Amino acid sequence: MIVILKKGVTRKQVENVEQKLASLGFKTHPIVGDYKTVIGAIGDKRNINKNLILSMEGVEEIVPIMLPYKLAGKELYKEPTTIDIGDGITIGGGHLAVMAGPCAIEGEDEFISVAKKVKQSGAVILRGGAFKPRSSPYSFQGLELEGLEIMAAAKKETGLKLVTEVVDTRDVETVDRFVDIIQIGARNMQNFRLLKEVGHCKKPVLLKRGLSATITEWLMAAEYIMSEGNEKVILCERGIRTFETATRNTLDLSAVPAVRDTSHLPIVVDPSHGTGHAKFVASMAKAAVAAGCDGLIIEVHQDPPNAMSDGEQSLTPKQFGDLMESLKKIAGVVGKSL
Ligand code: PEP
Ligand code: MN
Repeated sequence: MIVILKKGVTRKQVENVEQKLASLGFKTHPIVGDYKTVIGAIGDKRNINKNLILSMEGVEEIVPIMLPYKLAGKELYKEPTTIDIGDGITIGGGHLAVMAGPCAIEGEDEFISVAKKVKQSGAVILRGGAFKPRSSPYSFQGLELEGLEIMAAAKKETGLKLVTEVVDTRDVETVDRFVDIIQIGARNMQNFRLLKEVGHCKKPVLLKRGLSATITEWLMAAEYIMSEGNEKVILCERGIRTFETATRNTLDLSAVPAVRDTSHLPIVVDPSHGTGHAKFVASMAKAAVAAGCDGLIIEVHQDPPNAMSDGEQSLTPKQFGDLMESLKKIAGVVGKSL
């Protein structure tokens, strides 16, 4: 529920209401606006005597939150959220943030070389998999800790922010130490233990949509992270499974306006996993920007035919550079800077 406070409420009165709600087992989320202050109270409604709260000084009204995703939905947080990655990099707001890099980290020289190139083309965040959730146990599983160390070296060299996936609760602390954004992959979108674990981190979480997840299920996964205290969730549409085989997945670009309609969280699009074919990536990246996404995550490899993972959907640095040039124009049309 949302406890709406009277205009001119004092700090002490807000604190009293928060304390009361906490004593009744609610988690409180105060939001101080220019015009009004409200307190989001998440907990079991049966524990509360509404009149008791309504009778407290400074309280104006109580309204229920109807959506099941209380923190991820737009009822409590009405304004779109902008997530600060540091050094002026944000996801959300008027900027289009582009994350790029190889599917998997294969070696230091190759990784740093790609990092420099994507940075030159305008990417602000470097992607790379150190722990790879491969469909086959016989495929390359990633360099793990060595991969994270290579990422750190690339960051030192280029200044790019880092995003990488974590697949196991036991690695969350380590990954958290190395990167700026922790990625939860599509296959783990409903790994609730893992969601709760990253919910204890301070770093933003890039939450990919599950292979067959509805938007509601996806936002409930975000709620798992947020309800543990980490409200910095970035949603990532990466295609869903349909009957279509011409593309690896069906990139659901309607998720962009559909998420915007119900959630304040920023949303980025992954046209690489969304299509599975390098030749389709540019079209869908442009369409995603036109649809109003807050950013893109794109796989770029020095030598796609010889990539250890997802080469068929990876752009060369040159293709990525050309794409960024055309994205700048589209970003301008939809009022975003790149
Ligand atoms: C990835 O980003 O390399 C990846 C494995 O993505 P997804 O979880 O969307 O398949
Ligand atoms: Mn990949």
